[in-house]
Amino acid sequence: MMQSHVKLLHASPGVVKMEMLKQVSEYVDKNREWIIGVLQNLVRIPSVVGEEQKIGEYIEKVLNEIGVHVERQNVEKDRFNVIARLKKPSTGKTLLFCGHMDTVPLSEGWTIDPFGGKIIDGKLYGLGASDMKGGLAAMIATLKTLNDLSIEPNGNVLFVSVVDEEAYSKGILKFLEKNIRADMAVLGEPHFYETLLGYKGKMLVELVVKGRASHGSTPEHGINAINDAAKIITSLDQLNFLRHEKLGQGSLCVLKIEGGYKKYSLTTPEKATIIISRHTVPGETKEKVINDFKQLINLINIRSQVEIKIKPPFYSPYVLSEEEEIVKALMRIYLKVTGRELKIDYGTSVSDANHLVVKGGIPTVVFGPSGGNQHAPNEYVLVDQVLTVSKIYTMLAIELLS
Ligand SMILES: [Zn+2]
Repeated sequence: MMQSHVKLLHASPGVVKMEMLKQVSEYVDKNREWIIGVLQNLVRIPSVVGEEQKIGEYIEKVLNEIGVHVERQNVEKDRFNVIARLKKPSTGKTLLFCGHMDTVPLSEGWTIDPFGGKIIDGKLYGLGASDMKGGLAAMIATLKTLNDLSIEPNGNVLFVSVVDEEAYSKGILKFLEKNIRADMAVLGEPHFYETLLGYKGKMLVELVVKGRASHGSTPEHGINAINDAAKIITSLDQLNFLRHEKLGQGSLCVLKIEGGYKKYSLTTPEKATIIISRHTVPGETKEKVINDFKQLINLINIRSQVEIKIKPPFYSPYVLSEEEEIVKALMRIYLKVTGRELKIDYGTSVSDANHLVVKGGIPTVVFGPSGGNQHAPNEYVLVDQVLTVSKIYTMLAIELLS
């Protein structure tokens, strides 16, 4: 551990502190093997959503070894978020680094060990390697750099690794209940060439179609809920979706249909349920979505009653201004570190950033090391990007909190 005390250089706002960048860059490069080792360990610990306990314990251990303040926040039995901060508390602003520990379940078709952490041609392979254990490794390395170089920003650096991002976002929602004030945040999802400044929203819509039972030989005496559910589904293309200039158009996907009887029965089915995932853009509120379905159902003339419910997971859409301080700082530092302009883009689905921005009121940039094959066989992260991102994260903390 290096213990030299580095004084913050005074530079006018908007200018990347080149001397500091050089120092940070050298320190991260010096720790290359350590950072890769942490990432490999993260990949070697399976953490499919719902089973994040072991990886949480490992992250706690590494953070304790670095010497930052670490605490555990229970979310559910055997599921907890790990929260860390640099030891010296400050009254200044707080920058939050956020990442998720869980991965999607293992899919078929891997030709490389998904829990091996093997590196081939600069690509580190594994389930969750880029979504988002690479981002977590870059954030952990950032805490190490700030701590070891005794860089004490005039503000707070907070880190949270959460559970359940790939399902209901219970981890980030629990964290936001904690009433922690953060002025800005970085979410380390795998977007290296572009930062995402917005996401669509998402809600689950359940249509419960209620008909009336009758003997199956006289269906005209009943109301067949399955027939009516089918009519609803075939009419869904008549729905209109709003279009947003940055986020594009809202959409829907029928996920499930259920109805009829478990055991054979010659009875007109009295109930059918349709589950629809609805991606939304600003303006497409719960009320509007429910109303649109109501109007459509009125139009198609069915005899069943239809109950419309909005169920979790629920995410509101958002768009962050390009003028936010954290956006400008990220663009500036990225250019200095990589020599390229960072692009701006918007997500087609949702992430924990929806909750950070909408529920937490925290301006959040989505930026982290990327690779390929997320949610697919042979997922990988580019090792060099993990280091580059950690340099950028560290400089963000230094610049935003000076
Ligand atoms: Zn992710």
